[in-house]
Amino acid sequence: MGIRASTAAPDWSPTHHRGEAKCRAPSMNPTRGRDVFFTDEQLALAVCNGDFDGQVCPRRTECLRVSMLNKEGFGIWGGMTSKDRLALRMRHPGMPERWTWHPPTEESNT
Ligand code: SF4
Repeated sequence: MGIRASTAAPDWSPTHHRGEAKCRAPSMNPTRGRDVFFTDEQLALAVCNGDFDGQVCPRRTECLRVSMLNKEGFGIWGGMTSKDRLALRMRHPGMPERWTWHPPTEESNT
């Protein structure tokens, strides 16, 4: 039995009017071949939130929304850790309109 997303991920490609998801762009892979989203959480956050290159991912808001709706329990989504997404859900249960990006907490950075 597989896990099924309740909300399908949108088109993250460069043809989308808001631009390509940064994690898809080869130039945003600072480790050249190693997927930071599986190996380096802090670097993945830096890519999403623009600390790596000065540009926030143009798809960050919808990425966060998709992960929250699907209750993604692992990984970096929408520039937030799973722990911070859970905290956001606890603060605003059942209120997707309030699920907006917040800077990673100090605890997540340690
Ligand atoms: S915000 Fe989402 S879509 Fe954008 S780089 Fe991060 S994980 Fe990828």
